[in-house]
Amino acid sequence: MGYQEKFRLDGERAVVTGGGRAIGLCCVEALAEAGAAVVVIERDEADARGAFALRDKGYDIDLRIGDVTDSARMEAIATDLADGGRAATILVNNAGIGQSGVPSQDVSDADWLRMMDVNVNGVFWCSRAFGRHMITRKRGAVVNLGSMSGIICNRPQPQTPYNVSKAAVHHLTRSMAAEWAEHGVRVNAVAPTYIETPMVMAVVANRQRIPTWLADTPMGRMGTPEEVASAVLFLASDAASLMTGAIVNVDAGFTCW
Ligand code: NDP
Repeated sequence: MGYQEKFRLDGERAVVTGGGRAIGLCCVEALAEAGAAVVVIERDEADARGAFALRDKGYDIDLRIGDVTDSARMEAIATDLADGGRAATILVNNAGIGQSGVPSQDVSDADWLRMMDVNVNGVFWCSRAFGRHMITRKRGAVVNLGSMSGIICNRPQPQTPYNVSKAAVHHLTRSMAAEWAEHGVRVNAVAPTYIETPMVMAVVANRQRIPTWLADTPMGRMGTPEEVASAVLFLASDAASLMTGAIVNVDAGFTCW
């Protein structure tokens, strides 16, 4: 197989959670452009509008409504796809939430639990549900959205719950990778720096923090969702056939300092 061909995903079926906007939407486009049929999981139809617009480019985009914190629903979607002969061969665990600026001593039980529910439980429920069908078929690739926040502690804003949730995603990645290697299923993660998405830019306080972030970044800039999607595409494809359990920094050098 030629090198270019290894990036092709013809005949693959990818599931992207939270694929309706920002990083998730770019992952949908990257995977679809490489030839995959893509199923987006979003909480409601309006959220998926961006992904549906990609159908105009001739891409095979489907939608399943669901919340990643709903384990039973994730199981039902995975089984339904498999029963229809369309089991997922690629899973991108992108859905996630962020919260920053609250010192640990002031974090409420509810906020802590919500963060873990979406960012950690959601990744586990989806990996287990879709991974089971990959194991049956002896092939698959899972790509998780980790974060540099799972490696370093951001400044100036405190954000312990988010940081802990992403560190958990990284170790979930390694743990499942080690278990599932013998079943032909690869599990990797990307660890992005600050990316210009609503999660980051919609927080007014973040605007004052940007100069500090850029001063902490060797490349002196934030990233784009497309730059994250390129790394996700690589990890999802045969071009990364020897990679599993990797946490790939997509961080403009942030974690070098
Ligand atoms: P956005 O908030 O822009 O988009 C997140 C998407 O996930 C939305 O479509 C959202 O839908 C969906 N979603 C959220 N919660 C759930 C849920 N419980 N069930 C199903 N879908 C859900 O986020 P980003 O694109 O910025 O981030 C995507 C991922 O990348 C996250 O995991 C994030 O932690 C990670 N990341 C982001 C960075 C950044 O700087 N932006 C940096 C490092 C990592 P809805 O409209 O319903 O909320």
